[in-house]
Parts: sequence; C-alpha cells; structure tokens
Amino acid sequence: TSQTPESAALYERAKKVMPGGNTRHTVFRKPYQVYAARGEGCRIIDIDGNSRIDAVGNFTSLIHGYGCEAIRVAAREQLENGLCFGMATPGEVRLSEMLAERLPSVEHVRYCNSGTEAVMNAVKVARAYTGRAKIAKCEGAYHGTYDVVETSQEARPENWGEPDAPNSVPTAAGTPQGVLDDVVVIPFNNVELGEKILRAKGNDLAAVLVDVMPNRAGLVPATQEFLDMLRRVTREIGALLILDEVITFRLGYNGAQGRYGIDPDLTALGKVIGGGFPIGAVAGRKDVMAVYDPTNGAPRVQHGGTFSANPMSMVAGIAALEALTPQAYDHLEALGERFQTGITALFDEMGIDAQVTGLASLRRIHLNRASLTDFRSTVLAGGDGAAKVAALSRLLFDEGVIIAANGLVCFSTAMTFDDIDDIIAAFARALPKL
Ligand code: PMP
Repeated sequence: TSQTPESAALYERAKKVMPGGNTRHTVFRKPYQVYAARGEGCRIIDIDGNSRIDAVGNFTSLIHGYGCEAIRVAAREQLENGLCFGMATPGEVRLSEMLAERLPSVEHVRYCNSGTEAVMNAVKVARAYTGRAKIAKCEGAYHGTYDVVETSQEARPENWGEPDAPNSVPTAAGTPQGVLDDVVVIPFNNVELGEKILRAKGNDLAAVLVDVMPNRAGLVPATQEFLDMLRRVTREIGALLILDEVITFRLGYNGAQGRYGIDPDLTALGKVIGGGFPIGAVAGRKDVMAVYDPTNGAPRVQHGGTFSANPMSMVAGIAALEALTPQAYDHLEALGERFQTGITALFDEMGIDAQVTGLASLRRIHLNRASLTDFRSTVLAGGDGAAKVAALSRLLFDEGVIIAANGLVCFSTAMTFDDIDDIIAAFARALPKL
C-alpha cells in the first residue's frame, strides 16, 4: 500500500494558492493529489518515493514512456542551443515532412500548443474556408475545451433530448446560447440518424468533427460505415470533415485515418507528435490550409502564438516519430492484445461482469457487459459502474498501477509483456476489494 504523507502535506499548501488545490481536473483525486517526482521507463516515482507502473502516459501523450534516449538527446541539444526564438526553426520543416509522409490526407501542417488549440484552429479554418458557422460533433465526444466543441458531454440523460434530435448541451457554466446554436449534435456510430441530421443542417455546416474512437463516449471504435457516411455526406453538402487524431494518431504508423482508409480534409493533432512536450497541430489539404498563407497579403485566418512550433517540441516530436517505426507499432499492438486477452480471462475467472473496449495501445475497462456503441449506451450501462471504475482506479493506484479514473489504460513502447502481466496481477489484487 502506498504511503504518501509528503503529497498530503503539499496538497495542504496547494489549497491555499490554487482552486481546490488543483490546476488540472484530469489529475484531481480525493482526498488529495499525489505528486510526481520523476519518471523511469514506464514507471512514475512520487515525491514519497513510491513507484507505480504508468498506464496513463500523461493522458496518452508519452508513447515512449520516460526513458527514450533519442528524445532526451534531442531535447538536451536544443536546450543548449536556445529554448525558443522569434524566428522559424528547421525542426518545424522536418516534423511537417514526417507528418505529411505518414498521414495520407496531410499536405500542409501548422503548429500550436495543445490539442484544444488544434481543434479550435481546425474549426476556424473550416469556417473561413466554407463561409459557414455551424459545426457538427458526435454526442459525448471530448475534443478539448474550446467552446463550440466542448458541448454535449452531458452525463444526465434528462438533458439529452430525443435520439433523433440530440440537444446541444453546455458543458461550461455561462456558455452563450449563440455558441450552443452553432453546434449540431449527431449520435456516434448511427449511420441513418447521423445522415438525416447532417442533411437537415446541410447548408449551414462548416464541418463535421469526429474522433474515430472517442474515449469519453466509451472508447468504442467507429464503424467503417459511419465514417464512410460522414465522408460522403460532408462532400455532398459542401462541409469539411475534420478528424480529431489528438489521441488516435497513436493507433498506427498512418494514424487512425490509415487504419480506416479515411480521407479527411483536416486533421487535428497533439500529444504524441510533441514527444512529451506541449504541442498541437492542424493539418490537411493544401487548398484548405491556404487560409493561413501569408504570401499574398493578409491571410484569411490570423494565427501566431508565442510558443507555436517552439523548437523543444519540434525536436522532441521528430525524435519520437523516428522511434515510432513499424516495429514499434507492432509492439504496441501486441501489448494491447496481451492486455485484452489477459484481463478478459481474469474477469471470466473471477466471474466479474466487465468488458474492455478500444484498439491497439488504448483500452478502456467497463464494469458491465452491455452492448456499448455510443455515448448514451456507455453512460446508461455505466450507471453506478462508472463510480465503481473510478474506485477500481484508486485501488489499482495503491496496488502500484496508474490508470485513468474512467478506466482508460494506455501502453507505451517502454513496456514489455512482463509489465502487462504485472498490470493484470494488480487488477487481480484490486478487484476483490471493490
Ligand atoms: N481531442 C481529443 C480527442 C483529446 O483526447 C484531447 C485531450 N485529451 C484533446 C482534443 C485536447 O488536447 P489537449 O489536452 O492537449 O488540449
């Protein structure tokens, strides 16, 4: 069992200078946050010296864990040469070449500092390119905290609206009605209803935004038919298709778009492509990305950013991608399979009603055996189970394994099969205590 008195004491200080002692809701825990001191391979050592296997990877961004020598060398060298400049640097060209080589739909790339900003920029590009205001998104999907895209993650069914006309529900208190009116909500993975709703709003839609495996909506992979429908209908109504690959880029050498053979107009990127440093990018077809082109007078969309394309993120991202060889992806795929097989066997053996969704190096535990297809089915099946999964994550933490509170488990190239087996062994110890 973990002993964390130093964290408890630090949290007392934090409460005096930060709201609820916290600056990032995703890492908040009760009764207090545990503070990290350092990372080693696939482990995090906290300020009390406890070591735990890290199956969160800073929310999926640390695909190589903590020890990747190539990233450390690149970052150290850049640190010596200067952290950032009011000038362009060579790294931004190289990283863009690598992304364009890997992602079939990408010709041009533009950088910012987070996935939130990447999605925000993609929305602005789509609006500038089409001259339209509305954005369609899938119910329950998380795309960061930009106002139009953070809508409709409502956990209370009474606010959802009818299945064929989901409400645009505010997430942040104080969201203006005008913002809500600019959002069109479609049910994830429902081809017929999705098409009907999109066509009804057709002339006003700038873009449809989709994550092919939205974590908060269940980490259920999109069906090929659903994505094909989105591509076909957006083309017909003159809207852009934006793929949010902030998380799913890690699903394969060519991203989720390569895995599905889908050709979006724009892609939002973040996390993995910065090698552990802050990053975001909007990327896509060059005629669309041309709204940013400054070579012929004022561009249609203004965009700068003090830390956009900062060289630390560029060089670390290049090193991270270089280490993401086809063999590295095979390894990540194998880790995911090993987890899926092992944990499913454990659930069966212990007679626990549970299932695992996800693909490759991303998996999510659900403590039910309902059919999960979208946000509504995930929330309804979850019920008390959602709180149980959070409780399980706390028990696992005490057993030496860190997973996300919603049951998301994420693997890195720093892991071996032994680490996966250790994670499963921790589940075997934690589950009886639920
Ligand atoms: N899109 C998706 C699919 C995400 O999962 C996230 C973050 N988890 C974001 C966008 C926002 O990225 P960031 O936290 O870097 O702003």
